[in-house]
Amino acid sequence: MTSKRIEYICSYCGQKKVRSELQGRPMPGKCPRKQGDKPHSWRKNRTIN
Ligand SMILES: [Zn+2]
Repeated sequence: MTSKRIEYICSYCGQKKVRSELQGRPMPGKCPRKQGDKPHSWRKNRTIN
């Protein structure tokens, strides 16, 4: 069984993470472009079939 893979991109630093559709959003982590310990702002970039 194959599941779709979704590429997420942080709209602040441009970091990309690929996750399967079942895994959902990536861990927030820490965004190096934001001051303090702020998480990445993940948004869907594209779906990889
Ligand atoms: Zn970021």
